[in-house]
Amino acid sequence: MPFKIDCPFCAQRIEVPDELNNTTANCPSCNQELYLSKDDAVADAIVDRLRREEESRERQHQEHLRAVMQMQEQNRRTWTIVKWILYIFVVFPVVFWLLYAFVLFVYGCFTGKL
Ligand SMILES: [Zn+2]
Repeated sequence: MPFKIDCPFCAQRIEVPDELNNTTANCPSCNQELYLSKDDAVADAIVDRLRREEESRERQHQEHLRAVMQMQEQNRRTWTIVKWILYIFVVFPVVFWLLYAFVLFVYGCFTGKL
């Protein structure tokens, strides 16, 4: 069964017939001398798969982070709206009435009506 190796010099993928296992040959792409071994090809395939799995995990992690950030942004927006409602219906009227009471008090003191 032929196996595939990646040339370490030019990264060209080469299909190697089984009878050339554990021999040397020149890369058809860059002409560098290569040692052709099925064991190396198997090891390369395992490394390749681990790298793909790692990339997939990393992508999932990124998606999770993005979802969390979106939720935080949504919460921040909701909180901003609640804050302004509180300002308009609670904080501003209270401040206004306190000022009004103070003005009335000062006016009363000066006119002797208090
Ligand atoms: Zn090569």
